Formats: sequence, C-alpha cells, structure tokens
Amino acid sequence: MTALSISNLTVSVDTKTILKGLSLTVPNGEVHAIMGPNGAGKSTLGYALAGRPNYAVTGGTATFNGEDLLDKDVHERAAAGLYLSFQYPLEIPGVPALTFLRTALNAQKKLRGEDEVSAPDFLRRVREVAKSLKIDMDMLKRPLNVGFSGGEKKRMEVLQMAMLEPKFLILDETDSGLDIDALKVVSDGVNALRSPERGMLVITHYQRLLDHIKPDQVHVLVAGRIVKSGGPELALELEARGYDEYLGVAA
Ligand code: ADP
Ligand code: MG
Ligand code: MG
Repeated sequence: MTALSISNLTVSVDTKTILKGLSLTVPNGEVHAIMGPNGAGKSTLGYALAGRPNYAVTGGTATFNGEDLLDKDVHERAAAGLYLSFQYPLEIPGVPALTFLRTALNAQKKLRGEDEVSAPDFLRRVREVAKSLKIDMDMLKRPLNVGFSGGEKKRMEVLQMAMLEPKFLILDETDSGLDIDALKVVSDGVNALRSPERGMLVITHYQRLLDHIKPDQVHVLVAGRIVKSGGPELALELEARGYDEYLGVAA
C-alpha cells in the first residue's frame, strides 16, 4: 500500500516558486532519503507536507494512504499520523518538556478519538523511551529545548516521535550539529521506529547519516525537482562527486 505519494507538486513562498513539479512515492515500510544542495527546496518540501502557513501549494497533488493531504490543516495532518522533525527544534520557555510531551500526546489522542493517557502510564512509557535514548529524566523537567545542546534537542525530537508513534516521519537534517556519539544515539532511536507500517523521508545534506539510517531509496533534489533516484549507492556517489553534474539537469 502506498503511504506518501506526491505528484508534480509546486510550492511558492512569498511569490517565489521553490518546488517546481516534484514527484515522489514512499511506500509504507520504506525509508527514502532526499539529498540536495543548500537552497534546493528540501525543507520547503517538509514544510509544505506538514501544512505550514506561507507555503502555498500552487499545483500538483500529495496523498497519504490514499487521502488528500493538501486539503487537511496542520492538526489534521498530525492526526493522520504525519510527523515532521524540524531542522531547528522549537524552544518553549516556561513549559517543561514532560508537560509538553503529555499535552502533545493527549492532543493527538483527542484528535483520533482515543482516551487520554493516564499519568502513570505516561511516565512509565517516557522513562522507558528516555532510557533508550540516554535522556536523563531531570532534563525533561526543564523547559522544552531551552538551553538544550544541539544533541539534546535532537534526542528530544526522537523521544517525541517515539511517544507519538506517527505513521509517517519526515526528518529534516536531523544530523545537523550532532557529534558522532549523538548521531549514533539518534540514529538508533530512528531505526527503532522503522516498521512495515511506517514510511520515512530522511532529508539530509550529508551522506554520513545514511551510514546509520540505511535508506531503501535515495532521491536527489535540485532546484525544486527530483532529478535522480537510485539505491543507497547513489548517496555515496553524491558524497564523492557532489551535486555539480545535476545542476545542469535542473536548469
Ligand atoms: P534547503 O532545505 O534545500 O536548503 P529550503 O527549502 O530551505 O532549501 O529553501 C529553498 C529556497 O527557498 C531557498 O532559495 C530559500 O532562500 C528560499 N526560501 C526559503 N524560505 C523563504 C522565504 N520565507 N521567503 C523567500 N524565500 C525563501
Ligand atoms: Mg538548508
Ligand atoms: Mg533545509
């Protein structure tokens, strides 16, 4: 069953057209990587799929498990199980990470028509996931992401994903700012979320993340379009040769 299917998508930000006819299909259970130079439109793709305001879809289609994604608002997309992990996670002063997590989880359950999670069940589950991600429970009592290191923020993102159990994950440069040890912890956490029912789109500028999160397919995004798709070996070719040879293709 096809999870995410995007066809000929065009997206503008402030009158500037950034995605120019992007097509891509990610079946359930597969991990696809999107690689491309800075400014290619990688983050724009993630934002447009998540329904962020100001990202105007001007053409094309995107469906998620057969349902039109683009006519849903941000909350409906999240309720449908789409999760976007930002390149720069938000800081929320005054709201302890634990409170944020529980609120997010219950909001999602409400949207899905499910009962709220009980406090003991919530804490049990957080403890379990936090331990696997080497996150100290004390850190979760602090305001979300405020003063967290880059690596702590990324681990926090993976904790959110693991708690919310999304049906489809979009990771935008989850590797940026991570040292090797943090990269391993984060990658292990993401890999633990791989399942036959869950698709993932892993956006990355660098190949090294894909040593840890092995993609089924790699797509090259240049100037708003997918210009080439291939197996994991494509990421290694890009690492060795850069994007130059594709810049002409996109023009
Ligand atoms: P990537 O993630 O591949 O580095 P982005 O999707 O962030 O690329 O950006 C794609 C293009 O869109 C860039 O040229 C960027 O300057 C432009 N862009 C992004 N946000 C805005 C904005 N708010 N207004 C105008 N242009 C923008
Ligand atoms: Mg960028
Ligand atoms: Mg980006």
